[in-house]
Amino acid sequence: MTFTSYDPDLVSAELLALTRSLGDPARDLVILAEGNTSQRLPGGRIVVKATGAAMAAATAEDFVVVEVEPLLDLVRDPASTQADLSAALDAGVHDGRSRRASIESVVHAATRAEFVGHTHPTDVVALLASVHAATAWRDHVYSDEAVVVSRSAFLPYASPGLDLGRAHLALADAQRAEHGEVARLVLLGNHGIVVAGATPAAVEAVTAMTVKGARVRAGAYAAGGLAPLPRSAMAAFFARDDITARQRELGTAGG
Ligand SMILES: [Zn+2]
Repeated sequence: MTFTSYDPDLVSAELLALTRSLGDPARDLVILAEGNTSQRLPGGRIVVKATGAAMAAATAEDFVVVEVEPLLDLVRDPASTQADLSAALDAGVHDGRSRRASIESVVHAATRAEFVGHTHPTDVVALLASVHAATAWRDHVYSDEAVVVSRSAFLPYASPGLDLGRAHLALADAQRAEHGEVARLVLLGNHGIVVAGATPAAVEAVTAMTVKGARVRAGAYAAGGLAPLPRSAMAAFFARDDITARQRELGTAGG
């Protein structure tokens, strides 16, 4: 059974612009057909990049539409297999091309944000493939990062597909129960990042800040170790009016 359909008319200009921007080779966030983006649609659906399409040159024909709740029900069912998931993401053949939602669509569906950008930035994956992966982002390392990223979560490596989908859905459910929404940055061990935002600009901001944060951390580890911002100072920092105002401007307020 499929929960995926093909309707290029539902792909917005802003989703296309975000996809191509994140796919710009000069930014080194993805190469080839790596990474994917999505936008929430009315009626419990998301439009998400199809597998095999390069972000840098994405067109409306490179996206498919996925029904969120049936997909998440399939992922929650312990009897489901990878083959079931692959079938659910198949949108059929259109204009002579097979169209299937990215295998990482579950991550987008579980995030439930207006916009989601999933990339594999080289600087970030380097740390997520290191001995520091689980702890590198446990604390903020400088204040602008704290403003833009605010809250992040780490997910240990899971095989892309059903395993990662299940792990990410469990994390997203736990985050919503505790904080009311998913962390805007989820770091996937040995894999990449999932960034949630109310706007494309918010996804861009958190993605860019995460790449910079990776470089800062790599430099700090090379200089003898990380000395993060003290947690005791962060609650008061986030309560400041000027900081919440900046987060609203960036579209990263809340969570
Ligand atoms: Zn990925």
